[in-house]
Order: sequence, then structure tokens, then C-alpha cells
Amino acid sequence: MPPISPLFDQEKLEKRAKNHNLPAFKTKQIFFELFKNQNIHREEMTTLSKELKAELQSEFSPISLEIIETVETHDTTKFAFKTHDGHLIEAIAMFHRQPEQHRKNNQSKLNRITLCISSQVGCPAGCLFCVTGKLGFTRNLSRDEIISQVLYANRRIKQKFGKKADGTLRGIRNVVFMGMGEPLLNYENMKQSIEILLAQERFSLGRRHITISTSGIIPGIKKLITDKIDVKLAISLHAPNQKLREQLMPITRQYPLSELMKTIDLYVQATNNRIFYEYIMIRGITDTPELASQLANLLQGKLAHVNLIPYNTNPALDFLESEPATMQAFKNKLEKSWITVTIRESMGRESKGACGQLGWEKIKKTAQA
Ligand code: SF4
Repeated sequence: MPPISPLFDQEKLEKRAKNHNLPAFKTKQIFFELFKNQNIHREEMTTLSKELKAELQSEFSPISLEIIETVETHDTTKFAFKTHDGHLIEAIAMFHRQPEQHRKNNQSKLNRITLCISSQVGCPAGCLFCVTGKLGFTRNLSRDEIISQVLYANRRIKQKFGKKADGTLRGIRNVVFMGMGEPLLNYENMKQSIEILLAQERFSLGRRHITISTSGIIPGIKKLITDKIDVKLAISLHAPNQKLREQLMPITRQYPLSELMKTIDLYVQATNNRIFYEYIMIRGITDTPELASQLANLLQGKLAHVNLIPYNTNPALDFLESEPATMQAFKNKLEKSWITVTIRESMGRESKGACGQLGWEKIKKTAQA
């Protein structure tokens, strides 16, 4: 059983407050250190009393993961964590900088930071183009293991960038559930993590700054509607017909594309949110003009935005990235049908932390062993 911190459980906190063991103001002090000062170790929390620090040590350890490696590049930091039962999971922070043409004195300004987090150890979806899919599924991450990734990343960002000119700290502004795992198959823990990410006295992120990315788990999307979880929804579509989807993403055999599209319509009716469709560009497999036409037909008239994701090559897998001209032609075809499209910039390739590459370290180590 992964460690659970009562710090993230409102009911338990209130119980303690009632028993006067932990009055509400003390909890607020801890939250201030964790979420505003971006500290995670008690020795860094200079605003807490000695007694409170001791309590934090004995009962309230906020971090449920051990960091084992941090890989830095100009635009990304990749974190490799070990769980209490010895599994490896990864998260990657992406630093979105000002486009070159808008820079003054060649200084690149940091616009925002996005953290891509994991929701499971491995993944049961088994997508053929994804390293995580090769690992298979081990277990769900707990709410605290999900939250720990964000707390740890915020601390690292503070160390890396220091304070802004106005004296405030930089931190994660966007969280995307696009790392290892299928978040809608770990629904309860994902939901509770989102509540903590949104809560004002905690991470205080805007609901438009959180994205759930799913391979199309229909019951999970229906639950999002019932529970009114109104954050951004991204569908990993990757193919515009059932046959190719099943070949590339075995889990979709259980969730036919026609049913999925009907469920998405219900979600859009309930939320009025635009849906982001993620579509991987694999040379000769997903990038043909015929498939572009099929995709245009599938999405025509829908509240949709398509992100074309260049396939990130990896020694563990046998695919190739589409040619830039092919991607552009695919984009043009969709735009002719009035569908908005972005060719996504690939971040994290150097550190093997780009889309579909998380988990590479584990595969590499197994191969070496
Ligand atoms: S692409 Fe996403 S859903 Fe598919 S195997 Fe990888 S982590 Fe799982």
C-alpha cells in the first residue's frame, strides 16, 4: 500500500483540528510552505515551529516518491522517481519560452511551465508507438504519488530559476496527465489529485490549465460528465478509423470509435469545451492523404482542435517520424475542412522524455541486464 499523507485528506485534517492536535492555522502554515514557498523538506520550512516540523516528520511527510534522477536540457527537466515498492515512474517539466522574433536583446523569456505527469506504473493500453505501452501495467499511482510529482517539480523550478522580478516564485502553471499510464483507468486517484491541483489554498491552478489525456476510455469520459470535472480533455485518437486504431492501440478494441465519438458529443454538450485530438504522425502508417481525409470527415463540424504529434523515434520501437512536408500536407488538408490544427513542437527528445518515450530508462536497463 503506497504511503498516504493526511495532509491531502481534508476529512482527516478536520478531525485532527477538532481534537486540537493540529489547529487549522498550523495546517495553513504547512500549506504555505508546500504550495507557496515550494518547499518539500522540513529543514527548508523556516516559517514552521520546531514542534510543527517534528510533527511533519513523524506523520505528515508530504512526499511519497524518491527522486532518483533529474535530467536537465535547455527546454525540459525530466524527473525519474522510485515508488516505495521499487517501481520507476517519470515526469517531465517543459519550459515554454518566448518565440525568437519577440525576444529583446536575444534574451529568451520564460512564458510558462508545463508538467507532464504519470498516473500509473506502466500502462495497460499497450499502444504500439509508445515505450510506456511496452512496459505493460503494474499498478495505479496513489493520489499522493501523483501530487508528489508536482510538489517535487515546483521545488526544482524554484532552485533552477529563483524568483521573478516581482519577488514571486515561478512554478508549474499547467499540468497534463499525459505521462505514463491511462488516467481514466485510475479515475478516483486522478479525480482527487485534480481537486488538490485546483484548490485555492493548495496549487490553485486554473481549470483550463489541467488536461486529462485519454486513449478513449468511454466509461471514464461518462464519469467526467457525471462528476462535472470541467478541465481540458484530450483524446489520443492517432487513427481516424477503428481498424487502424485497433492495430496501433489494442485497448480501443473495447471502446469502438463510433461509440467514443458519441460519448465525446455528450461531453461537449455538457461542458461546451473544445476537445483536443492528439494524432501521432508515423511515416507511412498514420500520415497518408487518405487518412487525412478520413480524419477531416470524422471531425468536421465538431468543437475540435487537432494536435499533430511528430513521432519521437526510439531504439525500443520500429517506427519512423513523418517527413515535415508530409505533416504540412496533412495539416493543410484538415484546415481545408475548417479544422484548427497545430503541429506540436517536440520537447524532451534529448532526455527521452518526449511523448511516448517515458519509461525508456527502464527498458534500457532491462536490456542491459
Ligand atoms: S500512449 Fe498513453 S495510453 Fe498509450 S500506452 Fe502510452 S501511456 Fe498508455
